[in-house]
Amino acid sequence: MASLGYLIAGNWKMNGDLAGATALAAGVAAGAGKAPEGVELLICPPTLHLAAAAGAISGKAVALGGQDCHEAPSGAFTGDVSAEMLADIGCSHVIVGHSERRDGHGEGDALVWRKAGAALRAGLTAIVCVGETEQERLAGQAEDTVARQVRASDPDGATGANLAVAYEPVWAIGSGRTPTTDEIAAVHGAIRRALVELLGEEAGAGVRLLYGGSVKPDNAKAILALEDVNGALIGGASLKAEDFLAIAAAAT
Ligand code: PEP
Repeated sequence: MASLGYLIAGNWKMNGDLAGATALAAGVAAGAGKAPEGVELLICPPTLHLAAAAGAISGKAVALGGQDCHEAPSGAFTGDVSAEMLADIGCSHVIVGHSERRDGHGEGDALVWRKAGAALRAGLTAIVCVGETEQERLAGQAEDTVARQVRASDPDGATGANLAVAYEPVWAIGSGRTPTTDEIAAVHGAIRRALVELLGEEAGAGVRLLYGGSVKPDNAKAILALEDVNGALIGGASLKAEDFLAIAAAAT
């Protein structure tokens, strides 16, 4: 099948202020023209900074995404943001099911499934995060855990056009530790098989699989060269435009 290209996504989490977010978005936009062909850039700033970031990347080859969304389109949900609101402000993507939401906010597969469905309803691409804990990896359950999460949290009607899956081992996030390239390849293979089973051969094969967890400029090339790694979801290293762009440059 044709190459899926790469999606290099930055998850800024709850970092920075308005001026910093605007400058970071502008820094990514300034270097976007140098990204290799077939590499798409996506930034996911804090919700409060989306409008400013949208202005800073306007007209440049950088997409905008939210870090989470509510499952409903609108209503009495204090403090929440809907997928439709994200689309309205210029987002094309939204991350759902990040382990910091699953663990920190008690979000399970069923809710992640509904949030991913909300993203599709609003015309966004859902980036559904899955990943094993360290305990699960040590027990030899990484592939089974992740395949189960994929089956339980990826919405009906998903295709490569509106779904990406990010494999983020919980123990690798922000820790400076990563699985070996063989371990990443094995889990991505398991995710691909689960997606094909769930969505059918064509749709399942078209979904981009991102790796996330301590991706840095110096390990990006080896990770992005793996079969079935179609991009990266980057936390810490996405907070410096130079590092984020260096990771994108490694995706060739
Ligand atoms: C993340 O939280 O999505 C992430 C991958 O973080 P880091 O790159 O800092 O490990």
